[in-house]
Amino acid sequence: MQLVFASNNKNKIKEIQQMLPDFITILSLLDIGCTEEIAETSNTIEGNAALKANYVSQKYGYDCFADDTGLEVEALNNAPGVYSARYAGEQKNADDNMDKLLFDLDQKSNKKAQFKTVIALNLNKNQFFFTGIAKGKIIQEKRGTEGFGYDPIFVAENHTKTFAEITSAEKAAISHRGIAVTHLIQFLNKFEVKPPTNSAT
Ligand code: IMP
Repeated sequence: MQLVFASNNKNKIKEIQQMLPDFITILSLLDIGCTEEIAETSNTIEGNAALKANYVSQKYGYDCFADDTGLEVEALNNAPGVYSARYAGEQKNADDNMDKLLFDLDQKSNKKAQFKTVIALNLNKNQFFFTGIAKGKIIQEKRGTEGFGYDPIFVAENHTKTFAEITSAEKAAISHRGIAVTHLIQFLNKFEVKPPTNSAT
C-alpha cells in the first residue's frame, strides 16, 4: 500500500516510515511532485491536518495523511495552539516563540500545558482522525539541546527532564506525535492483506 505523508520534513518522514508495517510505503510531497506550500489557513489543529490531507487527495489523487501539532497552555486559554509555529511572528523562530511564551506566562501561577497532534488520514474516500496528547507543564528556563520548537521549556507529566533533555526515542515513546502515530499504525495494520495459506502442503 502506498500512502502520501503530506510533509517534506525528512526527520518526520523517516521516523514514521520506521514505525509503519512493511506493507506500507510512504511517499513525501516531493516524491509526488508537489512543491507548492500548502497554506494552513484553518483556526483549528484538526482543520489544518484535514486541509493538508485533502489538498493532496483532491489535487494528486493519492490516499494521504497529514499531521498538525500545537502547544496548548491552560492559563493562556490554550494559546498558542494552532498558531504555535508563528506565535512570535512569521519568522517562525523557536527561540522567539519560547521567549514570548515565557513572557506571557511569567505572572501566571498555572503552568499546565499540553502538546496535541492530530493526524488526518484520507483512505478509500473516507477520512479518519487520530489524536495524541502529551500533558505536562512549562518551566521558566530553557533546558536541553535535543528536539525542536518548545521542547526546552516543556516537561511531561511524571517526568523531570524537558523534551530537549531526552533522546528522540525516549521522546517518541511519550510524545503527542508518537501517540498519534501509534493510533494511525494500529488502524493501518488492520488493512494488511494476509497471503492465502497453502492447504495442499
Ligand atoms: P507542526 O504542525 O508539526 O509543524 O508543528 C507546529 C509547531 O508546533 C512547530 O513549529 C513547533 O513550534 C511546535 N511543535 C510541534 N511539535 C513539537 C514538538 O514535538 N516539540 C516542540 N514543539 C513542537
